[in-house]
Amino acid sequence: MKTWLFSHQSILSQQFSQGTLPHAILINGVMGSGKLELAQWLVQLLNCSQPVDSVELNKANVQGCGFCKSCLLLQSNTFPDHLNLIPQKNSLGVDDIRHANSFLQKTAYLGQFKTVLIDNAQAMTSAAMNALLKTLEEPSDKSIIILLTTDIDSLLPTIISRCRVLTIRPAVGNELLLQLKANNIAGKQNVVEAENLSDNAFVNLTQLPELTDAKIKESFIVFKKCYIDYLWLQQGESQLLQYLLSNEHALRWLEQITVNLLRENLLDDSKNEHIKIFDAQLLNGVYKVIINGCKLIKSYTQANSQFVCEQVIMSISDLVEKNISQKSSDKRL
Ligand SMILES: [Zn+2]
Repeated sequence: MKTWLFSHQSILSQQFSQGTLPHAILINGVMGSGKLELAQWLVQLLNCSQPVDSVELNKANVQGCGFCKSCLLLQSNTFPDHLNLIPQKNSLGVDDIRHANSFLQKTAYLGQFKTVLIDNAQAMTSAAMNALLKTLEEPSDKSIIILLTTDIDSLLPTIISRCRVLTIRPAVGNELLLQLKANNIAGKQNVVEAENLSDNAFVNLTQLPELTDAKIKESFIVFKKCYIDYLWLQQGESQLLQYLLSNEHALRWLEQITVNLLRENLLDDSKNEHIKIFDAQLLNGVYKVIINGCKLIKSYTQANSQFVCEQVIMSISDLVEKNISQKSSDKRL
């Protein structure tokens, strides 16, 4: 199991043991973040007839035994109480969801639970999403739906609000360093070398699904330059705010660019001139501000997003200013 999944695993383990698992769990994260791994671990745990303590680092966790009849049937994809829904040609239709709904209403044959795993939930058609909504509103007893998505924004807000959302975030700060060290890449001289060594998509966060679209990619490049200029030279504040308000991807880009800067910083890439001013403490602070902004926007209505974006920019400005004045006073000493 990937180290950054441990905290999610531990919370879910606890909820499983206490019998307080939610009926619907939405796991959100970029490609390679380990969404499927986490979901499969949970499905096995729920359906195993004799769960055991985890053999991984984190002893507080529980997991499926891997040997009982249920575990073996799950491994061969023939377990009767679990259903995998996989989009065909990038689309998941209303019939699939109706099938899942009636599947969940039947009582379990072997285990206690009925489980459904929907991968790439953003591929659901709007009719499918509406059909799923009915099930989420009136969940049948002992049924658990797990949705995975790389793009939570394309799901109906009413679906999101009825699920327990687990967002798998990239590791930052010390956690990231430990992870890089574990992968034996922290000692490498530059980021390119390190990234070549790591074929883990999650470590290389420049992978944003929407960047396959040439036009969007172009605006990403413009946005990135604007953001870095703003951090570096404190110029273009209003332009940056305009981007945040007019581009639906911009806040997510802001988050990912910041994480990448932090990564470059921790890898001590001496060729990167930005590092002269962007220290890890500043970037960590900026990252926290952005994450809080993302959370606020998710919980508010559209009308408030301008206010939140303005607050994000103001807080980042404060951090940058504080950082600069601290640096100049350090120099005087
Ligand atoms: Zn088992």
